[in-house]
Order: sequence, then C-alpha cells, then structure tokens
Amino acid sequence: MHHFFINPADIAGHQVSFPRDLAHQIIHVLRLDEGDQVAVLDNRGNIYEVELVVDRAARTVRGNIIATSPITTEPDCHLSLFFGLTSREKVEWILQKGTEVGVSAFFPFRSSRTLVKSESLSAKRLARWERIIREAAEQSGRGRLPELHQAQALTHYLSKVSESYSLGLLAWEGAQTKGESLHRLLQNFEGDSIALFVGPEGGFSEDEVSLAIEAGCRIVTLGARILRMETAAMILPALVLYELGS
Ligand code: SAH
Repeated sequence: MHHFFINPADIAGHQVSFPRDLAHQIIHVLRLDEGDQVAVLDNRGNIYEVELVVDRAARTVRGNIIATSPITTEPDCHLSLFFGLTSREKVEWILQKGTEVGVSAFFPFRSSRTLVKSESLSAKRLARWERIIREAAEQSGRGRLPELHQAQALTHYLSKVSESYSLGLLAWEGAQTKGESLHRLLQNFEGDSIALFVGPEGGFSEDEVSLAIEAGCRIVTLGARILRMETAAMILPALVLYELGS
C-alpha cells in the first residue's frame, strides 16, 4: 500500500484532502483510482487507512478515513546522525538509507577534513534532500519524517551533545585500541536519544576526536576494516538499533 505524509491541517473529521502535488502523483504517476486504498501519516504518530475519492476533471483527490491506528514502525530511541558534508550523491545516499534504517534526524557538518566547505546549504538543495527523505520514509513505512538540519561546524554540534542527548557515539577507525565496543556500551542503555558521528572521507583529526571525548562522546570502532563514510553512516545506526533490539 502507498504511504503519504500529509499536513495534519489537511485531515479533518473523517476526511483527508490531498494537496495538489500529491493529487497529481496519485492520479498521473501512481495511476490510482476511486476506491483504491492508501495509508496516510500525520507525522504526529498516527496512520490512517484511507479510501480515495478522485475527481479527475478537477484534478483533486480526497480520502475517506476507514481506520486509524498508532504507528508502530518508529524506533523507541531517537537517533541523530551527524556526518561530514560530502558530494551530493553521497549525501543523498546517506539520507535515503539512513531513513530506511531508522535515523530520526540528519545533521551534515563541516570539519577540518571535509571536502565541501561551503557555508550553508541552499534552500533548493535542502528542499531536494527533504524530498528524498520523504520518499524514503513513505517507501519504508516510517511513521515520522526524519528532520534535515542546516550544515554547521562539527565543533558547534559537539558542544550540544551532552545537553541534548542521552549518549554521543563517534565512530573512529583509530579506535581499535582506544575505542569501546558498541555491544558493551549499549548493553544497559536506558536513554531515549543518541547522537552518532561519522567522519568525512579524510576522517576525524586527533584534535576532533579529543574534542568529542571532552564533549562527552564515547569513541567506537566499526571493526578492523576501514569503511567508506557512506557505508559507516549506514552501518552505525543499523548496529545501534540492532543492539537496542529495535
Ligand atoms: N581517514 C580514514 C578513513 C575515514 S573513513 C582513511 O582515509 O584512512 C570515514 C569515516 O567512517 C570515519 O571518519 C569514521 O567515522 C568512519 N569509519 C570508517 N571505518 C571505520 C571503522 N573501522 N571504525 C570506526 N569508524 C569507521
């Protein structure tokens, strides 16, 4: 069944009114018709089973709600993924796969070894990336849309970890001797949010790792092999959710 995130304001009583872009997608791209059923998500924790009412002449689509239930697909623990700003293709891959795996918020950062140093992401780029997240969320049955944040300096984000998260984890390939095991770290974890840091292609500098430790982050290894950043960015949240039983 197709899933659509809808602004809660467009859900009233037992009816959903689909905005123009979704009406277009439903009629012309997905070629759904009167009576077909879809799932609508309000991004507030509810999923609605909806039967479509299609007016082809007016190009509008409404939906009659036939069942409502709470969503069950969201992880119990909120994962924020902080990753080095990189090429457009890699960022898009990270956003898509991270959404499927269960990341709740994405924070691209600039650091001493990021290839991309641009000041901030354009509104156009953010909108494109939000669309990629939305499509991945709809495809994978997420109940809430992951957030995408503006790029900031790594140091800025590190300074917020201890006040904003139950735990901060930074993946470092040099951690094999100094790093902790993810399994042991998460064995008795009872918090509700974790900040995950994955470095850019050039990795984290020693200074950045020290800063992360000072900021309260634990340093973790992802094994003896060096992973590409986009691989690490997918593997780390997947392993954390696995360890948390989610
Ligand atoms: N600087 C390294 C590679 C960086 S890999 C080099 O060129 O040799 C990019 C990022 O992926 C790293 O900053 C780290 O966060 C993560 N990463 C890759 N392999 C890892 C591993 N085995 N353990 C922990 N983190 C890893």
